[in-house]
Amino acid sequence: MSQRTKIKALLESEKTNIDITVKGWVRAFRQNRFIALNDGSTNNNLQIVVDFENTDPELLKRITFGAAISVTGELIASLGQGQKVEVVAKDIEILGDCNPDEFPLQPKRQTLEFLRENAHLRFRTNTFGAIFRVRNTLAFAVHQFFQERGFIYLHTPIITASDAEGAGETFHVTNFDLDNPPKTETGEIDFKQDFFGRPTNLTVSGQLEGELGAMALSDIYTFGPTFRAENSNTTRHLAEFWMIEPEVAFNDLVDNMDLAEDMLKYVIKYALDKNKDDIEFLTQRLTEEEKQKPQNERSEMTLLEKLQFCLTNDFERLTYTEAINILKESTPNKKKKFVYPIEGWGTDLQSEHERYLVEKHFKKPVILTNYPKAIKAFYMRQNEPDAQGHETVAAMDILFPGIGEIIGGSQREERLDKLEQRMDEMGIPKDELWWYLDTRRFGACPHAGFGLGFERLVLFVTGMGNIRDVIPFPRYPKNAEF
Ligand code: ATP
Ligand code: MN
Repeated sequence: MSQRTKIKALLESEKTNIDITVKGWVRAFRQNRFIALNDGSTNNNLQIVVDFENTDPELLKRITFGAAISVTGELIASLGQGQKVEVVAKDIEILGDCNPDEFPLQPKRQTLEFLRENAHLRFRTNTFGAIFRVRNTLAFAVHQFFQERGFIYLHTPIITASDAEGAGETFHVTNFDLDNPPKTETGEIDFKQDFFGRPTNLTVSGQLEGELGAMALSDIYTFGPTFRAENSNTTRHLAEFWMIEPEVAFNDLVDNMDLAEDMLKYVIKYALDKNKDDIEFLTQRLTEEEKQKPQNERSEMTLLEKLQFCLTNDFERLTYTEAINILKESTPNKKKKFVYPIEGWGTDLQSEHERYLVEKHFKKPVILTNYPKAIKAFYMRQNEPDAQGHETVAAMDILFPGIGEIIGGSQREERLDKLEQRMDEMGIPKDELWWYLDTRRFGACPHAGFGLGFERLVLFVTGMGNIRDVIPFPRYPKNAEF
């Protein structure tokens, strides 16, 4: 095997007039002369110049869109415009033919829907190459952010017997023969005979286990797959997604917000620095796409501007109560433009309301705090009732333009009596969560954490519109192909 140099390195090379070997896939072959070669290391193609008069015509025919080839030649300063360097081919080898009559991809713009159906090949397009390089960088940046701050990466279980949110949107895990599961005397399925001796499911969140770790390691984070069997055919929900869940002992709600805002800014900046070319490409893609929309639906900022804006501005922090007041007085509410009109205090915010606040009212990321207790999870810390007697919890949601909720978090209820009371009220089985309650019995302390949906972050940074396009193989209702 000859040594190969990656295209990214060649394009950045200070040295020219050297012999190199490069391997990749043909993106274009013009005039029997110029090959645009890509190997995924960068969004940019390397130009290969072929001496077609002295090349076997049979070989030339096999240099088709999508073919895998190996080229040995000389890297020279480019004679043409549009690139700094190019390679004059001395030897070309076809590693894998690609019949253009059968290859599903075409060297032209293809719809995202079509590419989703061909997710096994879509990595080979400029758009998906850029998306998955950015995704990779963001994942790395998340780890780097927490590691620099001394957080411990904790692996929480994928298979659990608890439903953290109590929302019941879980996928069951069983070893039973579904045609003939063992039954109890009374005719119910006998989970005692199942693999784990009890009903189990795929995790919907690592938070509860994460809290156990934080009660000794102080600062932990998880970063792993999460599963929700919610039948939500939206552009923001997947059945399998990746979640980042830091949990920090001794943090209160404000510390929690600061951590979340710092983290988002850090990873966005990291991607802007590391994936400049990809983000510039995605910015152009989005601008092109938006030209199809009527003027008033186009965003005021380009993708690049949106990302930079996000870095240089403080997120707007306000309470749920303040948000409700803004929404009540808003033009769309008065003109009855909301599908769900704002009736008053206590209702859950719909995505139309979140988007109004973020995109129209504040025009920047927003952190909403202190939600009504009745609409939030049992483990959130209960606030003192306010002057109007409203009962709230120390929750915080971060809302992003074009995305809606990107982070959901809270300070946790560390007081055993309050927590137990809330579990009783909400019908959460205390006996099943005995281990969780133990943390409140032995050395409890204030603590806080949040969950960031990784794909929603990737959506924001890539400017894509559908969450199914930012995970390699999306899982959603009626789809588990590949
Ligand atoms: P939403 O209201 O958007 O359904 P949620 O309130 O159910 O979100 P949480 O349970 O707080 O979300 O989960 C934490 C984070 O995980 C969310 O802020 C979001 O970024 C992400 N998330 C939640 N559900 C999904 C999903 N089905 N697919 C992708 N990401 C998700
Ligand atoms: Mn949800």
